[in-house]
Formats: sequence, C-alpha cells, structure tokens
Amino acid sequence: MDYDTYGSNAVELAIDLANGDRDDPAWVRAFLDSHDEWFTHGTALELSAQEVERVAETSELIRAVALAESEPEVRDRLNALLALASPKPYATDHDGELHLHYARPDAGALEQLTTTVAMGLSQVVVQHGWQRLGVCSAEGCGHVYVDTSRNASRRYCSNTCASRSTVAAYRARQRV
Ligand SMILES: [Zn+2]
Ligand SMILES: [Zn+2]
Repeated sequence: MDYDTYGSNAVELAIDLANGDRDDPAWVRAFLDSHDEWFTHGTALELSAQEVERVAETSELIRAVALAESEPEVRDRLNALLALASPKPYATDHDGELHLHYARPDAGALEQLTTTVAMGLSQVVVQHGWQRLGVCSAEGCGHVYVDTSRNASRRYCSNTCASRSTVAAYRARQRV
C-alpha cells in the first residue's frame, strides 16, 4: 500500500491510543510520555482530569470506528471523532523532511492529540477503505489494528498475537 507517511504514522498513533490500557489510572500520562515525539517540542503533557476524560473518549471513539460493521456506522463514528479535532494544517521540517502536520504547533497536548488521530484515521479510512480497520482475532485480545498489508490479509494486532494463535491452533490440532 502506498501510504502518505505522516498520515500512516498518525493512524498508528490513533490505533495505539485506542489500545491504551484504560484500567490503569495513569494510562493517559504513560501514553503521552511514550508518544512525546508527536507533540511540538516543549508541549506540556500534564493534563487536567477533564482533559484526561477527553482523551479516554477519543480512545473509545477510535475503537468504535474500528469495530463498526457498515459504512454508515463508520461515517457517523468518524464524524463524531472529527468533531473533536481542530485541524490547522502546518508545514514543518522538524525531522529534516518537509511534511504537513494537522494541528497547529502551539495547541495544547489534548488538541494536538485529538486533531492528529482524528485526521490520520479519517485519511486512511477515506483513501484505503474502512475494511482496513479490524479487531485482533487472538483469543482474549480485543486490540484493534490497521491493516497496511498489500493484500489486506491481516488478522492480528501484533506478531505476538499472531504467533500465540498459531501455537494454540497447532496444539488444538494435536489434541484431535
Ligand atoms: Zn512531524
Ligand atoms: Zn492481539
């Protein structure tokens, strides 16, 4: 698949956010810290309780888009997600290569995050089809993924889940 680089990276950010461990009360801060390269240098990553709530909502919406089973469902959920975004395209070469960012560089962490994930996810869905989003087939996983394989054959969120399932299927066959 020929993905636009920033858009395809932004959709990975969206997927990571959707798969955040929401049982951990500190998960939003941990997520921001582990993805700090997505924020303009110097952006404060301490969010208020209300902002943390917004991040959780955004995460839930991305998941809902990935789990949608029809195009109208995808459209409505994408629009709910896009309603949280404040896009302000911005050209930058901060990493040495000229590319576009979706959020203005001086926006707060929450605005940068919601805008980037909403725009990144929508771009990929619109260009490559909503069937590219899916939920992991490994038993008990439930993580969502975006399928960037050429023949759209992906079934697992990660190599770990893929090999775990292969081993489980092998063992099941041995028992027969
Ligand atoms: Zn960049
Ligand atoms: Zn998985």
